[in-house]
Amino acid sequence: MLICDTHADTLCARTKHWNDGVYDVRREWLMQPEHTRVQAMALFIPPKGMEQTPTIVDEQLEELKRMKAEGFHQIRTVDEALPGQPNIMLTIEGGEAFGDRVEGVDEMAAQGVRLAALTWNTPNALGQPALVGNDTGIKPFGWQAVRRMQQVHMAVDVSHLNVRGFWDLLEHDVRPMASHSCAWALCPNERNLTDDQLRALFEVDGFVGVNFYAGFLSPECKADIDLLIDHMAHMCELGGEHCVGFGSDFDGIDAYPEGLRTANDVPKLIDRLLERGFGQKLTEQIAGLNFKRYLESI
Ligand SMILES: [Zn+2]
Repeated sequence: MLICDTHADTLCARTKHWNDGVYDVRREWLMQPEHTRVQAMALFIPPKGMEQTPTIVDEQLEELKRMKAEGFHQIRTVDEALPGQPNIMLTIEGGEAFGDRVEGVDEMAAQGVRLAALTWNTPNALGQPALVGNDTGIKPFGWQAVRRMQQVHMAVDVSHLNVRGFWDLLEHDVRPMASHSCAWALCPNERNLTDDQLRALFEVDGFVGVNFYAGFLSPECKADIDLLIDHMAHMCELGGEHCVGFGSDFDGIDAYPEGLRTANDVPKLIDRLLERGFGQKLTEQIAGLNFKRYLESI
């Protein structure tokens, strides 16, 4: 089965040596002969992350090189993914990676970046994060970047963006995705999407990768695989059958659904979707085909 995961912070975790070298995503865990795995790997921009030399982006691009030398296979389209191989797709979490220059979008596209979150939790020249407030929507450089992203077929990722920025995009003919966000209706949290936001995303044929972080799945920060599936089921009820997928946030989180601790465990989620009666077709859509379809339409 094709299995796509639209968000992981493995590049930054490996660069900063989080988790003492024990990571949620490992090469061998993506090498399951019966599956074709596509794992997004974000260039993650922490606060003040660009104010160092070499920049945090350069550091993570170097790490990507090392990973490719280890056998990771970088792809730009889902079609390029090889069965049983550790396919990775480069993404951005924080528009600072563009260096406040619209040419930065072209440079990142040339590196293979296929989707970019405009902000992480730090305000920047593109927009304001949900955790900071709702004073401003998309900023002037944000619009420049978004328009250039559309030209180079890079998806606009609204995970972490505030509500005003989200609606700004929807009102200006952008078909965004959320690479790692859950449903507010099941867990009210600034990082999650309300039913109105989810319906709007589904109406324009956007995409939502559901985050595995227990703190976004339940207010008590306790979750199992069934609760994660409840978020997916809720989104399907809102019209998202063709738009929902996985956005684990592996290597960026510290609380997991029981039994879903690493990239190696993701097939358990597929088994449980089938057991819960999602059916073969819908399970395949959620596991990977929805993201493939979305990315090809960008
Ligand atoms: Zn994130």
